[in-house]
Amino acid sequence: MKVTHKKFNGGYRFKKFEDQSQAKVVDFQPSSTVEAAVDEITYSDNIMDYLKSFGLTLRKSIDQALYDEDVHIQKDSIGKMVINMTQVESYDFPMDIFFEEDNANDFIEGLKILKNKLPQVQIHLVLCENQLKKHETKISEIMSLQGVQVTTVVDKYPINKKELLIPILLDMKYPIGYPSANIGVIMMEPYMITQLYCLYKDKKPINHAMVALAGPGWKDNLILNLPLGTKVKEITQAYLKEDRQVRLIKNSLMTGQVFSMEDKIDKGTYLLIALSEGSKDSHGINIGLHGPVRACISCGQCQNVCPVGLIPHLLHKHVEQGLVNERLADLKIFNCIECNLCNYGCPSKIDLIGSIIKGKEQLEEIELSHKDYQLKGIKEV
Ligand code: SF4
Ligand code: SF4
Repeated sequence: MKVTHKKFNGGYRFKKFEDQSQAKVVDFQPSSTVEAAVDEITYSDNIMDYLKSFGLTLRKSIDQALYDEDVHIQKDSIGKMVINMTQVESYDFPMDIFFEEDNANDFIEGLKILKNKLPQVQIHLVLCENQLKKHETKISEIMSLQGVQVTTVVDKYPINKKELLIPILLDMKYPIGYPSANIGVIMMEPYMITQLYCLYKDKKPINHAMVALAGPGWKDNLILNLPLGTKVKEITQAYLKEDRQVRLIKNSLMTGQVFSMEDKIDKGTYLLIALSEGSKDSHGINIGLHGPVRACISCGQCQNVCPVGLIPHLLHKHVEQGLVNERLADLKIFNCIECNLCNYGCPSKIDLIGSIIKGKEQLEEIELSHKDYQLKGIKEV
């Protein structure tokens, strides 16, 4: 089996910052007792229960009459699985760890369980080209597994988003605004594969998570193995640099949610980024840079960076002026994959994505929905 390479015209190549999380795992025990985590993963011989516990098989109904009813797809409806190991943001979970001895073996065993439980499914492992060169030996071992295909992509954001990755990788249309389960594709993070192996090996619930610490705010950029339900403030007390005002961001600098000290680590947390609030760090990130919001200067930057060919400033102007009608849908507002690149690139700091989300919601209210614009010609399972 040989590695295929997929091209992607567009996107943005982010600089990798120095304070990446290192592929070094340490056990972390919070000082206060952690209540039993509500989202621990219990053992079941049925693989569908494992996928369900991450919401991966959830299908959103396209039937207006059943608008609020979401359903899980059946085992036979899963055609393909995509394991996303790309590293395209300024901070990413260190994928190296899955190619190092013990973890690599757990990862390979996890893939075998998946193949054994879902023999009809084609598994696609996706990496960036530079990762392939670094881990050639382990990757050839993975490629020798029956039904596992390895593909490389260019290291440009937002190729890691399912709405872009699935069409490029599998040559399928993606129903933007709907889960990938709607078209029979399951997209998994690599830590789910090693966890799957541990679950089947030990037959005990999984109540720990591996969370990588990235960014200039931490004393050490390590990976913590900690109990689910650990409060963020326990981690900051132990690992945050002193006298540091930080903004904590979960999983992604581009699309992640801001964490408060009272938030808890759940099973979907794998990266905790600490950026210095209000000051410029050595790598140049400054979350207060460029001042307050100003008027659009029609520079076209948002349009240049949009990976799906939208004109974000035009969409923003329509929404701001209350022109929420068919014209806005014809400008393909529903094609927005909410990658945030337009906001990132705007020198006037305009919240373009905020307007786009507002526009989509208002269109849904007048019943010009995703359904009419996004599902044409798409075969659902
Ligand atoms: S308009 Fe949507 S898809 Fe285009 S850059 Fe902005 S967030 Fe990304
Ligand atoms: S990037 Fe900002 S300033 Fe430039 S055209 Fe887009 S909205 Fe206007």
